[in-house]
Amino acid sequence: MNAAAQFESVTQVFGDFTAVDDIDLTIPAGKLTTLLGPSGCGKTTSLRMLAGYTRPTSGRILIDGVDATRMPPEKRGLGMVFQSYALFPHMTVAENVAYGLKLRGTGRKERDARVAESLQLVGLGHLAARKPRALSGGQQQRVALARAIAIRPKLLLLDEPLSNLDARLRVQMRAEIRRIQHETGLTVVLVTHDQDEALEMSDEMVLMRAGRIMQQGAPADVFSAPANRFVADFLGYENFVSTADGLVTVRPEHVVLVPGETSAAEGLALPGTVRDIAYRGVDILTTVEVPDGSEAILLRSHVRAEEAPRLTPGQAVTVTARPRHLIALTD
Ligand code: ATP
Repeated sequence: MNAAAQFESVTQVFGDFTAVDDIDLTIPAGKLTTLLGPSGCGKTTSLRMLAGYTRPTSGRILIDGVDATRMPPEKRGLGMVFQSYALFPHMTVAENVAYGLKLRGTGRKERDARVAESLQLVGLGHLAARKPRALSGGQQQRVALARAIAIRPKLLLLDEPLSNLDARLRVQMRAEIRRIQHETGLTVVLVTHDQDEALEMSDEMVLMRAGRIMQQGAPADVFSAPANRFVADFLGYENFVSTADGLVTVRPEHVVLVPGETSAAEGLALPGTVRDIAYRGVDILTTVEVPDGSEAILLRSHVRAEEAPRLTPGQAVTVTARPRHLIALTD
């Protein structure tokens, strides 16, 4: 794997609080990597260290194989887009996009060409003369992207770039950012707390918790084999069951309910009682209560209606799942 950037044993301490705790991370070149995790897990701090706005307390950051730990932000050749687009209100769209190029002393002709090319890439060529206030939120977002891309950055860093957009536009912009990434071949690092966004957009996904990396990999690999309870929970898994061999999870679409008591030779077979049945046309979501020591847990089955047995609340069932659908987790 060709690395665009590397974190080597990087730690960031604020006072007595460790925001990033000894992480090793490789950002593959030409790919889109997301840093994903709940609020406060250290995503933004990691991105800010990569950008050079914060210096690690210890460890090294390499960009293109060169130690950039002490390099100031403007020397790193990075483009950045924040949640608040940070456009200059008194400048036109074109002037905003030209800003970084001007700072770098790019000549007029080259500058004009890059501005036109970047605006075209984000589909805003026709709005070059407008001021930011005369643009929609989505359009402002695109200007911020064009401005970051215009300098042809080594890395494009995006910090929750879609969180100020409404739901429909957010989904549209996910595809748009991926298209731009494909067309330019840029290395992109995106911070998000939205697992759907990460699953849909990433080539590589890095899940963080309390300053540490919990799991890293391609979305399909992480999703199909979450390493621990935290990752599984965060990716929306349900059905956590303690078995003789440890904690397992099984997706609701793999849980089959069998009326009455049965015992399975292998896989899961737990006696339970139907608590709720949500009929939703093509599929059925059934909640079953299963005793767990002195307490009870709720397990869910989500299967196609035509494959589901007719059940009623209060009915005794066996909750079954095939061995290959049981995912072992560390707690
Ligand atoms: P969010 O999604 O809420 O932005 P995050 O995962 O990006 O969360 P960070 O912004 O990296 O989290 O913050 C990690 C932790 O470090 C938080 O608890 C935050 O309060 C703390 N922190 C960040 N910057 C500073 C600072 N300059 N001084 C003190 N604490 C800080």
